Amino acid sequence: MLFRKAALWLCVALAQIVAGTEDYYKVLGLDRQASDKQIKSAYRQLSKKFHPDKNPGDDTVKEKFVEVSEAYEALIDPESRKIYDQYGHEGLKQRQQGGGFQQHDPFDLFSRFFGGGGHYQPGQRRGPNIEVKVGISLRDFYNGRTTEFQWDKQQICEKCEGTGSADGVVDTCRTCGGHGVRIVKHQLAPGMFQQVQMQCDQCGGRGKVIKHKCPVCHGQRVVRQATTVSLTVQRGMADGTKIAYENEADASPDYVAGDLIVTLVEKDPDLEQDNPDHVDGVFFRRKGDDLYWREIISLREAWMGDWTRNLTHLDGHIVRLGRKRGEVVQPGFIETVPGEGMPKWHEDGDSVYHTTEYGNLYVEYVVVLPDQMESGMEKEFWSVFQKWRLKKGVDLHKDSGRPDKVEIQEEGHEHEEL
Ligand SMILES: [Zn+2]
Ligand SMILES: [Zn+2]
Repeated sequence: MLFRKAALWLCVALAQIVAGTEDYYKVLGLDRQASDKQIKSAYRQLSKKFHPDKNPGDDTVKEKFVEVSEAYEALIDPESRKIYDQYGHEGLKQRQQGGGFQQHDPFDLFSRFFGGGGHYQPGQRRGPNIEVKVGISLRDFYNGRTTEFQWDKQQICEKCEGTGSADGVVDTCRTCGGHGVRIVKHQLAPGMFQQVQMQCDQCGGRGKVIKHKCPVCHGQRVVRQATTVSLTVQRGMADGTKIAYENEADASPDYVAGDLIVTLVEKDPDLEQDNPDHVDGVFFRRKGDDLYWREIISLREAWMGDWTRNLTHLDGHIVRLGRKRGEVVQPGFIETVPGEGMPKWHEDGDSVYHTTEYGNLYVEYVVVLPDQMESGMEKEFWSVFQKWRLKKGVDLHKDSGRPDKVEIQEEGHEHEEL
């Protein structure tokens, strides 16, 4: 039994070697549970990486490019994926021979994702870059997070694959003969003409007309739809960091899509959304790699010491502040807590060669004096102060060396002390 199983595996392995093709999941760097979204995103990244135009003269890269598009087409179609999962490459081959599976030109596939006819050509028209701002909470800048956002992206219409035609028929414009322009003669004076080149209004300058317009895009060849983009905020990234998604801006059959540029902007904390663990750190203020916090202490604490505070940081760990009895904190004093600031961003993240360093946390102390005292309490404090004041009190006014009294007196009026 065991032997038979082993023999079967060997056969499968041999079949794959004979076919010379690698496992499609491996090609895309995915596991067998991968979602459609993951397959699409893997294709996007790898097809760009291995595009022959980006790697001129390298034939192995071209093979890779073809392999990636094959793998994508096999796995994105639910039926062919099922066959592949069960029977492997051999199963798909049989299906292909039976005519049930149609393989596309890898460049066509590429252009369906990025526009522009599949090839990057020097001097080819390029669509505009698009900038998007995405609000990120301080908590996400501190901990790092993979999230997503949506924007209305112009996509090549999937229904007509960018032709604009319901039946795939695109005719040459008769008015301009496919040139997209017409020459119009203006008479300036008898016998004097001026020739003006004008865009053909019949075809809008495209040189082509469509009789049966695609019902989805109405002949526009593109549609605008909400598109989800996944976004990875690495720990410690700066406020204002720009992340470029190559060729992910608006797509069109007429040009290679420009880049989508995402700017990360720190947003004000939202109590409900950004602070599920009720941490104090949500209200830290950030300046570069450092964090700032204002802590309120009472007069007794500032003067007599013997107090502690547990400050909950952005990932929930506790920073302990405090003073022993007799340790004074002056109002406005700023304490430096080393290593409790933001993680310092590093392009490699954490690795054997590099561990994350942190900025500082600066705690500013605000001392609050009691508004009122019970009269009993006031009397006791007063007498204690009087006693010690007379013994070893310091008179700041006398020490200042300023004149003792300034007499500003109008006649008949006594100086009123404020
Ligand atoms: Zn025309
Ligand atoms: Zn369409």
